[in-house]
Amino acid sequence: MSELRPRAPRPFVSTVWARCAGLLLLCAVPACVSTAPSLTAPPADLPRTISSTSILTPPTLDPEVELDALARSRSAPALLRRAFLELHCRRPQAAIDAAAEVIYGANKPSPNEEAYARYLRAEAYTQLGKPERGRYDLERARELAIDAELQRRIAGLEPLAPTAAPAAVAAAIAVERRQSWGAQAEDRGNLEPMGAPRRVTIHHSAMYFRDTRPAACAAQILRIQREHMGNRGYGDIGYHYLIDPAGRIWQGREMRWQGAHASGVNNRQNIGICVLGNFLRGRGGQGPTPAQVTAMRRLVQQLMQQHRFGPGDIHCHSDFKATQCPGPLMESAVAQMVRDLRQGGTDAGQLAAAAAGP
Ligand SMILES: [Zn+2]
Repeated sequence: MSELRPRAPRPFVSTVWARCAGLLLLCAVPACVSTAPSLTAPPADLPRTISSTSILTPPTLDPEVELDALARSRSAPALLRRAFLELHCRRPQAAIDAAAEVIYGANKPSPNEEAYARYLRAEAYTQLGKPERGRYDLERARELAIDAELQRRIAGLEPLAPTAAPAAVAAAIAVERRQSWGAQAEDRGNLEPMGAPRRVTIHHSAMYFRDTRPAACAAQILRIQREHMGNRGYGDIGYHYLIDPAGRIWQGREMRWQGAHASGVNNRQNIGICVLGNFLRGRGGQGPTPAQVTAMRRLVQQLMQQHRFGPGDIHCHSDFKATQCPGPLMESAVAQMVRDLRQGGTDAGQLAAAAAGP
């Protein structure tokens, strides 16, 4: 019955003190340390809206409990809240993954959703100690943010150093133009503009191929274009680049056109690279040549610098759908490249040497 008894009035000063002490206590609780069990009941509702209040408010309960409650939802509000909580718990890579799911997910993000996702990813890269990786995200977030609190936070992120001169790096890689493989003209009525590229996807051609002679490689690429335009009804060859067993890089579809390689919306702003060969294990399979792996790494790094995306934006076709492409023997090479890039290692030395070479 005690709850029915009227509460004795408390002096104003002690009420204020109690509130301040409560706030201080909340601020003093270290990130991600569970407080009393009675405070860990899951939140009644997943966030339904996108605002600074729903996404960027520090957790008052155990963040792990809130993360558990959010884990199954793929909605943008839930993913953005997750990204924020992961950052709060100093797990920047998990925050990057959640934000990327909003940016590249099956549903194209609204400008407001993208603004939060870009900001959170830029924060995560800063937390990783690699703020330059979030440079493009921060610029996009600045363009898109309409919420005053979000704008304030974006402005508060460290100003970023400009990226290394992309033109100098771009000059280091030779690309065989479309004419050199006798490309059939594209069907422009059947193509969509690409927009600014912001990710890259690696494929294999799924046909055993070891020939290093330029004419044989050109003929192989033309065969792929004929298959794509004739049998699949594409407006051009589906990939933007192809890499032959000698490590030559060939231009495929022009970059101003969206590719046709990763299924539906996954093609948006996504550069398609096809490495010639069949990189499955077992009969009919082969490993990529060292020259192919080196060429892929150099091309991807150049594209990252040119278009300002990070290692989290490098994909295998199998990230988007149930497919063996680009094959386990290539996936391991891609995974190694991503690991190296995340650790800050680049092949910049190699690029510089190539630029200075004959
Ligand atoms: Zn593929």
